Amino acid sequence: MPLVNMKDMLDHAHANGYAVGAFDLVSLDFLDAILRGAESRRAPVILSLAESHFAYFNFQTLMPAVVAAARHSTVPVAIHLDHGASLDSAVQAINLGCNGIMVDSSSAPLEENIRLTRKIVTMARGCGIPVEGELGYVPGVEGEDAERHPGEMAYTTVDEARRYVAETGVDFLAVSIGTVHGRMRGKPELDFQRLAQINQALGIPLVIHGGTGLSDDQFRQLIDNGVAKINYYTALADAAGRVIAANASREARGYTALVAGIGDTIQAEVERCIDLWGSADRADAVLEKARPWRAVEHVIIYNVEGLDEAGTHAMMAEGRRVLSAIPGVLEVVTAEALKEDAAYRYSWLVRFCHPAVVDSYRDHPDHMAFADQHFRPVAGERISIDYQDVEDSSS
Ligand SMILES: [Zn+2]
Repeated sequence: MPLVNMKDMLDHAHANGYAVGAFDLVSLDFLDAILRGAESRRAPVILSLAESHFAYFNFQTLMPAVVAAARHSTVPVAIHLDHGASLDSAVQAINLGCNGIMVDSSSAPLEENIRLTRKIVTMARGCGIPVEGELGYVPGVEGEDAERHPGEMAYTTVDEARRYVAETGVDFLAVSIGTVHGRMRGKPELDFQRLAQINQALGIPLVIHGGTGLSDDQFRQLIDNGVAKINYYTALADAAGRVIAANASREARGYTALVAGIGDTIQAEVERCIDLWGSADRADAVLEKARPWRAVEHVIIYNVEGLDEAGTHAMMAEGRRVLSAIPGVLEVVTAEALKEDAAYRYSWLVRFCHPAVVDSYRDHPDHMAFADQHFRPVAGERISIDYQDVEDSSS
């Protein structure tokens, strides 16, 4: 039962004074190493996929592996879209299995940031999915040198944070208090007083981006002041890069020889972070508190009147195309009975990521148009039932 509601996970961390690591992964090596690190320390963990990294892997291809690995894990896991840039990418991430979404419109002016964030929160609520917003601006890009992205840092202010959270309804807030994405020269100066005031004003889990390069003491102070999720990537990527460079200097040849050992190195860094951030040995408490993340199967069995077989198959194809794009729909399966004399000849199986989708799907204009124009007129004889998964497939 390892995929859990991310809001419950982070509320537990916020209430108990520790932070969960949200580690960006860019390959199966990272995925395995992050989960092995979390399991060896019995820590809750967030598998994070950053939209800025989609150039390096195929998101659609990688996600099924991420979901399968999370389901087989023995520690509580959430799967998060990091820095989602648009409503479309948020919907795509949810439909591929992410159960947390970050909206990044923080480079827009406040009004625009609120408007865009609210739109995504409304969609995500209909899918039962918590949302992380960002206010203020943390310069840079994950895994790159900060000097290459010299954006102006904009600190989060208490008043704007209060307004942004009230008007958007985000569940978590990424704040800008002096960290920078990627590698930076010198020691970052963090504004802890500002962070303490934001934490007091909001009372929701806060998030830090740009965790690489902070001292142990800085991390402790961040967590003491409400930070419950820390995004972490650059140090993992650099550690893996050093292993590859060392392998190359020993004249290792070929891909597998060059990447040999990067998993162990990434795992060691993940374990160091987990120990430092206080999330070790919290897995059982989170599993007890956090609602398991369970899918719903919307099942319809039906007979068709007034359409021949080709017409029925065309109707099904149209349904798969239209319905699979509705937020919260993980999968659309259309099938026909093996035996021609079955009481019901055809079936739909539409998998929803969360029970909330039962309502948002039914009321979605694309679903209503398909049902009214293509399905109901020919499928008068039908049974429709929603089922929730009883146990996770791995347990
Ligand atoms: Zn970030």
